[in-house]
Amino acid sequence: MSLISEAFKGLYGRELELESKLRYSGRFKPYGANAFRSGSYVEIRLGREWKPVSDDIKMGLVQELLLKLFKGKANTDNIDMYNSFIKKLHIAIPKDNVDPLLRESFDRVNDKYFFGLVEMPNLMIGPRSRSTLGNYNFKTDTIKISSILKKNQELMDYVMYHEVLHKKNKFNKSGSKTYYHTSKFRNEERQFENQEEVENKLKWFLRFKF
Ligand SMILES: [Zn+2]
Repeated sequence: MSLISEAFKGLYGRELELESKLRYSGRFKPYGANAFRSGSYVEIRLGREWKPVSDDIKMGLVQELLLKLFKGKANTDNIDMYNSFIKKLHIAIPKDNVDPLLRESFDRVNDKYFFGLVEMPNLMIGPRSRSTLGNYNFKTDTIKISSILKKNQELMDYVMYHEVLHKKNKFNKSGSKTYYHTSKFRNEERQFENQEEVENKLKWFLRFKF
């Protein structure tokens, strides 16, 4: 039985009555994957980093993709294994992309709020965006901060703090849904010094900077 058929059966308790194919591709970001269906054909594409990963874990990934494709909620042991694999990925990822300005910001935030205990991720200046001020990609263990914050240390540290919280908290799963900004997260976010004031400054900055 193919991995896809087995994954489907594990989820829905019946056979997948469609033709299916699993392919590896070098055209993803690290550990990327997607699935599509066209008529009676289902294809699942995995980034080539997935190739050496054990079938148990890959099965969980395929099940997550199938749940998106065919809808539904389910939790399986394989999905749990997949999620803990993803959460540990950062350990093996090389930290070879560290912007010096962001490193200073990260160190300030890490020392002040996390006792210096957060392991440094990759730190990159992102495009000049004001809709995405920062983001954390747990598959590449990279925090990206918009270049518009380069000249404002306080706001940069504030956005950095938000992203470090993402790295620290990873994500919570409930069924097939993933929650990032939980109430626990928002509470922690408010621990930033003068958070309300800084949040307001950020709003003004975004309104008038351009
Ligand atoms: Zn966020």
